[in-house]
Amino acid sequence: MKPNLTVIDDYVQKEHAPMEQGVVYKKTVGSYAVHTDGRTTICTLASRLREKHIDTVVVGDLVRYIPISGGAGSIVEVLPRHNQLSRRSAVPMPTAHAFEQVIAANVDQVAAVISAANPPPKWNLLDRYLVSAEWANIPTLICITKSDLAQGKGGQPDEHISQAAEEYTRIGYRVALTSAVTGRGLETLRQELQGRVSVLLGKSGVGKTSLLNALQPDLGLRVNQVSQVTGKGKHTTTHQELFSLDFGGAIIDTPGLREFGLWEVDGHDLAQLFPEMRPFIGRCRFRLDCRHDEEPGCAVRQAVMDGRISPRRYQSYMKLKDDK
Ligand code: GDP
Repeated sequence: MKPNLTVIDDYVQKEHAPMEQGVVYKKTVGSYAVHTDGRTTICTLASRLREKHIDTVVVGDLVRYIPISGGAGSIVEVLPRHNQLSRRSAVPMPTAHAFEQVIAANVDQVAAVISAANPPPKWNLLDRYLVSAEWANIPTLICITKSDLAQGKGGQPDEHISQAAEEYTRIGYRVALTSAVTGRGLETLRQELQGRVSVLLGKSGVGKTSLLNALQPDLGLRVNQVSQVTGKGKHTTTHQELFSLDFGGAIIDTPGLREFGLWEVDGHDLAQLFPEMRPFIGRCRFRLDCRHDEEPGCAVRQAVMDGRISPRRYQSYMKLKDDK
């Protein structure tokens, strides 16, 4: 039975209403499961929060709520977030405006998942994930799945994949090359996820379910059930859930992220979000307004020509810049 919101709001106005605090671990339309000392309270939003943005409360938020009978509650305050990962909302109609869609709050890292083959890796999409995480100041772990399918001649690892992995490692990202089939890299991945709250980003088909099942029996299955509820491939994040890991830590899956547009990243900030470009940014001839495109004396482009910045990453930068 749904609580009577008007009655709750009247109650909330009273000065001495008892208040509890907890973390939102599950969000469905209009309903938030809040974890407090091993208990779950199913909350709705107090009316003053309902009037705000649609992402007023997301998974990972620390909230204060007024408990009411029957294990229910009303969220009255969201405590300041130390970070939030956002994307530009997919626009259902050409006339509609895009808005910021917050995927999760207060996370320790983004786990960006991309497959080595079948489907072939989309490095530009990975770079989008990385740039969004840089913008939010959240560290990223890159997980390249299906490494068993990326074998070169004589069973050697595919050069294209190992080169890309090296490139990202050189930039400073942690990279796990994994296979749910051979078990490769699972121990490394487990260590990287342990004790942290990670947001999983990755298109459907890259092997997230298989990977999660390989890490913890049935975890992929549980996550997938959420995807089915949400509708795979649909442009929605109406259902978000945090799953705890047996070995410590938790993951937040993000079903329905078929597209991943950058939110509020201005063209001039963009190069700052490519860590390997940062040392060169102030050294261009047009120091203050070089867009690292065709300007003469551009230090970033020179670094690409000198082999200090990967041409592929530079192309990603140009592509993202043009998307703005
Ligand atoms: P999800 O949509 O990201 O959850 O991807 P799934 O885990 O459902 O995997 C998609 C397909 O890739 C399935 O047919 C899996 O059997 C296959 N797959 C997943 N992981 C691996 C892997 O490490 N190696 C190989 N060869 N196939 C895999």
